[in-house]
Amino acid sequence: MTTANIIDGKAAAARVLAQVKTDVAALRERGVAPCLAVILVGQDPASQVYVRNKVLRAEECAIVSIEHKLGAHTTQADLLGLIHTLNADPAVHGILLQLPLPRHIEEIAALEAISPLKDVDGFHSENIGGLSQGRDVLAPCTPTGCMQLLRDTLGDLRGLHAVVVGRSNIVGKPMAALLLRADCTVTVLHSHSQNPAALCRQADIVVAAVGRPRMIDAAWLKPGAVVIDVGINRIQDGDRTRLVGDVDFDSALPVVRAITPVPGGVGPMTIALLMQNTLTAAQRQALTDPQPEAPCLSIS
Ligand code: NAD
Repeated sequence: MTTANIIDGKAAAARVLAQVKTDVAALRERGVAPCLAVILVGQDPASQVYVRNKVLRAEECAIVSIEHKLGAHTTQADLLGLIHTLNADPAVHGILLQLPLPRHIEEIAALEAISPLKDVDGFHSENIGGLSQGRDVLAPCTPTGCMQLLRDTLGDLRGLHAVVVGRSNIVGKPMAALLLRADCTVTVLHSHSQNPAALCRQADIVVAAVGRPRMIDAAWLKPGAVVIDVGINRIQDGDRTRLVGDVDFDSALPVVRAITPVPGGVGPMTIALLMQNTLTAAQRQALTDPQPEAPCLSIS
């Protein structure tokens, strides 16, 4: 079987990270050490793994990372207090609040407390609004990574019909905004869409972000479509669990021009784009802040 039409997300992420490393070194020569503060509330095992991976990746890029591990019973006021401290610390350039939060904390209130300039996840309403207006703001990492994979595969996206399956705030909606900004014709499908397979079959580009294992098979795809599978679903396979996407990879592969695998597709790009956003935040703050060399504040 040819692997020519499998999009290698690990290789693409390695290219992004290599460039970030080079640019971080240049910034450090100017006396600015890019710094990412990562806040984890509670002991969710998956979140702990995600945070560890982000911190490791930051270290590889020579980005300073500071973990703030807060107990599951941390109050909203205490969390907001930490965020305000980090907002005011000139040595911290990026703030990442790992989701999900414990139920007693309002997610929107916490995300809105993060300074838009340090909002490396791109979830603040100011950044979301800026993205919709086509401004050059910090945009969410997963959809930005998907755009990079699409550009690597297709070059100019202008005029192509893109179908985004899923309309979440962190993937589907910003994905649609980025595709629109790239002059695609964009259709967004969601849980109430009628006849989704027929709509999806019209697409030159399909971005699947639903969270349903292998929901999209060959019958949903136009021959020659490029498919970006954002879904990460854990399924039972005999006595093992394994990860699959929202797309039925085996049935899609012979039909499509190119497709991302799960794992090894979008996932590595998400974390690479987080490093890119941290670098961008540091570069922008360095332009406006003449003395960013104070040590990072750690109060975990
Ligand atoms: P979500 O649950 O917030 O949103 C799912 C969306 O799918 C909703 O908008 C819903 O309307 C839509 N949907 C549900 N059923 C549908 C159906 N039958 N037809 C069409 N649309 C339907 O999920 P999310 O946070 O956007 O994540 C989606 C998937 O992407 C999950 O598997 C998640 O784990 C994965 N994810 C991966 C990365 C990565 O880095 N690779 C990052 C974020 C999310």
